Amino acid sequence: MSSLAASERFQNLIRDLRLIRNTSEQSGWPAAELDALKSAGGYRWNLPAEFQGEGRTPVEILEAYQMLGGASLVTAFILTQRNAACQRIENSRNEIARRLWLPQLADGAVTATIGISHLTTSRQHLAQPAVSAVRDPVRQGFVLNGTVPWATGAERSDLLVTGGTCPDGTQLLAAIPRREEGVEVGPSVVLLALSRSETSAFGLRNVFVSDEHVLHGPVERVMTASAGGGAGSLATSALALGAAGDSLRQCAAELLGRDAQMFLLDSLQAEYRILTSALLAGTESCSQAMSMSADELRRRANLLAIRAAQVWLGSTKGAGFVSGHPAERAVRESMFFLVWSCPQPVVDSTLQELAGVSRPISADKLHAATNM
Ligand SMILES: Cc1cc2nc3c(=O)[nH]c(=O)nc-3n(C[C@H](O)[C@H](O)[C@H](O)COP(=O)(O)OP(=O)(O)OC[C@H]3O[C@@H](n4cnc5c(N)ncnc54)[C@H](O)[C@@H]3O)c2cc1C
Repeated sequence: MSSLAASERFQNLIRDLRLIRNTSEQSGWPAAELDALKSAGGYRWNLPAEFQGEGRTPVEILEAYQMLGGASLVTAFILTQRNAACQRIENSRNEIARRLWLPQLADGAVTATIGISHLTTSRQHLAQPAVSAVRDPVRQGFVLNGTVPWATGAERSDLLVTGGTCPDGTQLLAAIPRREEGVEVGPSVVLLALSRSETSAFGLRNVFVSDEHVLHGPVERVMTASAGGGAGSLATSALALGAAGDSLRQCAAELLGRDAQMFLLDSLQAEYRILTSALLAGTESCSQAMSMSADELRRRANLLAIRAAQVWLGSTKGAGFVSGHPAERAVRESMFFLVWSCPQPVVDSTLQELAGVSRPISADKLHAATNM
């Protein structure tokens, strides 16, 4: 089997996504893009063969994310959230849930998303957990109450993978059908960019989750226990690099014939190459193989996406500032990386850099300090 990114099917998908981006109005749920993804087998890549998946390696998936991020960021983003939900199910010891959901996810009959930020990067300063989980011994399960602040494509998903906190502080993750009684998906929010992802909050009002739907826990720090694809995962850096790469490619096309300005891209392109090799040298499970930590890679990928988009916009001058120009969209989309699934050390280090702090502390050092 050829590597995923090198396969003809994948190359055709990238071509189709670029075509859709260039020829159709960029509004509303990206149904055409997701259909193209499904036809290219995109829902099977991450799942093992025993569940009708293709069992692609983590490096193949990262490479695919990077290329998708450059061709259609919204499609790549929705896929990462869906794949994160799949990963939590696949990593579960709950065989009933795995056998029920994974084959249906592989063939696209069931769609899924994830709402876990309240256990990682959102609402961490609040005293009360965003979602409580209380054991119901009679019905053999848990009752969930609260609000999950962020879930991409929640209304479009059949299955919501989310979590709650028990009175003793332990946490659980569960796969909850969206149509379950008490699940209330809020309206999708209008965003600076990527509104097409139809991201929203959803409420859980006395939602009963039977033990058959519990994927992990209750256990302390369930996100660590169920590891993989969490905040700051390499997938987020892959998307940032994909966005950066596309800005650099389009900026180079803009600057063709303007020899005096072409050198502007040299250092950005060099940084792009360094970060791409660091990304592909590492996977979720062997990040020690990387030349930099996952946090540091994310910080640099964020800044590269932002800078590359801004250099592109600047080179297009006023024309690029007009709403609908691809460079203005790239600038808005690059801001997404400042806020999405960003671990606190990455946020702190990035803000120091943007604020012009003379000797910003690297994400590596901040990471080490917060983990002491
Ligand atoms: C477009 C988009 C899509 C997303 N999709 C998903 C998804 O599908 N699944 C998912 O799980 N997550 C998703 N997220 C969530 C994301 O990964 C982050 O968790 C989220 O962006 C963190 O922002 P927050 O406003 O919720 O953070 P919070 O930390 O909750 O901040 C909320 C507010 O509280 C303030 N605040 C923060 N800390 C303090 C403090 N110490 N004291 C006082 N005030 C404070 C902040 O300034 C802010 O105004 C998405 C986010 C975005 C923007």
